[in-house]
Order: sequence, then structure tokens, then C-alpha cells
Amino acid sequence: NLTQRLAKVVKTMRGEARLTESNTAEMLREVRLALLEADVALPAVREFIAKVKEKALGEEVIGSLSPGQALVGVVQKELAALMGADLGPEASQLSFAQQPPAIILMAGLQGVGKTTTTGKLAKYLKEQKKKVLTVSADVYRPAAIAQLESVTKQVGADFFPSTANDKPVDIALAALDWAKKHYHDVLIIDTAGRLAIDEAMMQEIAAVHAAVKPIETLFVVDAMVGQDAINTAKAFNEALPLTGVILTKLDGDSRGGAALSVRHVTGKPIKFAGVSEKLDGLEAFDPARMANRVLGMGDILALVEEARKGVDMQAAADMANKIKSGGKFDMNDFKAQLTQMKKMGGMSGLLDKLPAQFQQAAAGANMDQAEKQVRRMCGIIDSMTPQERAKPELIKANRKRRIAAGAGVQVQEVNRMLTQYDQMNTMMKKLKGGGLMKMMRGMKG
Ligand code: GDP
Ligand code: MG
Repeated sequence: NLTQRLAKVVKTMRGEARLTESNTAEMLREVRLALLEADVALPAVREFIAKVKEKALGEEVIGSLSPGQALVGVVQKELAALMGADLGPEASQLSFAQQPPAIILMAGLQGVGKTTTTGKLAKYLKEQKKKVLTVSADVYRPAAIAQLESVTKQVGADFFPSTANDKPVDIALAALDWAKKHYHDVLIIDTAGRLAIDEAMMQEIAAVHAAVKPIETLFVVDAMVGQDAINTAKAFNEALPLTGVILTKLDGDSRGGAALSVRHVTGKPIKFAGVSEKLDGLEAFDPARMANRVLGMGDILALVEEARKGVDMQAAADMANKIKSGGKFDMNDFKAQLTQMKKMGGMSGLLDKLPAQFQQAAAGANMDQAEKQVRRMCGIIDSMTPQERAKPELIKANRKRRIAAGAGVQVQEVNRMLTQYDQMNTMMKKLKGGGLMKMMRGMKG
């Protein structure tokens, strides 16, 4: 598997250096700043930096990577782990009671998106063929009850009416009774929130919890809240045995540092992310993606770029300019690209710079094979005349035979390479206008 393969690379490529206190200090300072800028609360930042240091020091630096680049790898991995990547995909699943209905209690401050998210969850569960009932224990704002009724109807789930004169505990018990009688699989209890945490409110929701013993108690938190998330999370975590977190409004432009703060305080999995006001705007939480977002792709890539000595960013910029100004992407450019891939630590080195989903896809491929392939392709290009390299369309049957003989390969292989060049050429045309730099950045993210 991939990990084993990388481990092998570590051994065979003989790192030139190890990560040390001094060669990581500056980078860690940058990471710390990036996290603070993303509004991660200070205690969570401290804990994280300490953890990264512990993991990184003594670590071997692979291949052509600089210590800084190697550290970025550690940072991304640790951050994803802290976001819950280590908990496995089951962590974002909801639990269901042996004996239905499974009760889900929604907790959180006012305006964070509890009612909207209740509607989203009802939709999500309905799609899993669950019979869902919702009820509002928000007795302070009649409009809030009507709001829940509206979103519930929109997703076609059942709604248990309540009034502002009822007590939250009574409402919850009555709804539970109804759900049992009508064979609902799930009962979602929406609750009131206040603008700030107050004791009375905490006691009220704790009383509802004690009365119905929900299997899921979800803390809903707004990704836009920033630093304050840590205090809110603390208060709710102390008042209620939380089972998970839902992070809303991730469609906003916040970096979502709240995610890290909340994980730091509660240790509970973030199960879902709210990504729109609409009722289909609910996604399973993705720890790795969140880690990249919190670090800020821009920042982290700027760091990687600075650190990356093997890759000639100037060459990439020149090529982008050339294409932008209408220049042609010829065989020389193609070879420059292949060579650049080699510089980035070969295919296996490149692999661990790719986003996780590509890594998974690539895990099945044979890296040694791929590296040999690149070498052969470079050999074929070397066997072309300068004229052929500048105008690959000249290469017809005769020339192909000559090139193949020169590179010591079959003609089919020359054909294959020309096809790959054509594909790259088409892509380059599409990328005209600065897209190349973006793509190269994407490759190294
Ligand atoms: P509650 O007071 O906690 O029940 O919050 P509401 O469900 O009433 O939501 C407060 C506001 O946030 C409403 O305007 C929602 O449309 C909006 N909202 C909730 N979740 C999201 C989300 O994931 N993305 C966006 N953009 N808006 C959201
Ligand atoms: Mg509400």
C-alpha cells in the first residue's frame, strides 16, 4: 500500500537531513500565525504546535525536499488528524437507538443554524428511508417554532406542534410519546438559543437531555464565530454530554478555525458541515479538507514555494507567460515539465504532495514503473531534432521510425508519447490566461 511504498522511499532515497529545532523554528512560527489568523483559539494553537514539534523533530527529510517542505507534510497530516481524520469515517455517522425512535438533541447559541440544520438533518435522514419527526422546544420565539414547521414541511418530514406556553421538557416528552406511537425512527429536538451563554438556558437544555436521554446530542457551531467558539464549546461541553458537532456556514469566507477550537475543547467528532442556507446544504465533515482550509491554501503554498528548492518556479512562470502571450507549448516545454516532475522528488516524491483523494487513486499505480516511463519519454524527446521539438506536427512515419531507433524504443511508444503531448497541449490551451500557475500550485498542494 501507499504508506509502505512511501516508507520504502524514505529508506531508499536517503534523506540528506533531519528536521531539527532550528530548521523548523521559522516554519512553525508561520504555521502558528496562519492558525491564529484563521481564528483558532490560542490554547488550541499551542497544543497543536507542541504536537507537530514532537512528531517532526528527528524526522528524516525525504529526497529533494527541504526541511520546510517536509515539515509542511507533518503539519497537514497532524492538523487533519486533529480535525478527526484519525477517528475514521464512522465518526461522522449518526448513532441510532436499538429501540426507535433515536433522539437527536440540537444544542447551540442563537443564530448558529440549529433550526436550519434540523431541517437539513431531517432531509438527510429521510433520504436514508427513516421516518423523521421534528419538534421545537424554542418557547421564547413563536417565530422559531413556525420556522421549524416550515423547514420540516419543505423536506417532507413530520412536525410535532408545540406552543410558547409549554415547558421545553414537556414538549420533548410529548413529542417522544407521539413518535413512539407513530413508529418514527428519529425524533429531532430543536432548542432555543440565546445570544450569550446563560445559566438558565443551560439548565433548561440539560433538563430536556435528562428527560429524553438522546442518543445524539449535537453541538451546532457557526464557523464564522472565530475565537469565541472555544468559550461556547466549553460551556456546552460542561452542561451536556455532547456526542458530536455540526459546523455551519462553511460556505462563508471564514477559515473555520472554530473547528480546531471546538475539537480541542470537546474531543467530539465534527459530524457534518453546513454549506448553504438551503436544506440540501449539509455535507459529511471532511477533516483533511478542513485542515487545508484552516491553514489557508494560499499561506501554506507560499511556504512550500519558498521552501521548495528543487523546483524552478521561474521556469513555470516563464512557461505560463509564454502560453499567455499566445506562444506554443512545444516538445521542449513538454520535456521541461517532465523534468520538473523528476526534480520534485520523482513520481513518488510528487505523490505525497498531491491531495489525499489523488494519493488514494495513485496508490494502486506502480510508481517505479511511472518513473521509468518518464525517463523513457525524456529519451524519446532527446532523440528529436530541434526542429521536430519546436514543431511536433512534422513528426510523420519516417521521422517516428528514426526517433524510435534513436531512443531504443518501439514506434508505438513514440506514438503514445505524441498522444500524451497532444493531450497536454490541449490542456495547456485551456489553461491559457494564468491557469498554469494555478494548476502547478494545485499539484503541489
Ligand atoms: P438558530 O437560531 O440556531 O435556529 O439558527 P437558524 O437555523 O434560524 O439560522 C440562522 C441563520 O443562519 C439563518 O438565516 C439561516 O439561513 C442561516 N444558516 C444556517 N445554516 C447555514 C449555513 O450552513 N450556511 C449559510 N450560509 N447560512 C446558514
Ligand atoms: Mg432556531
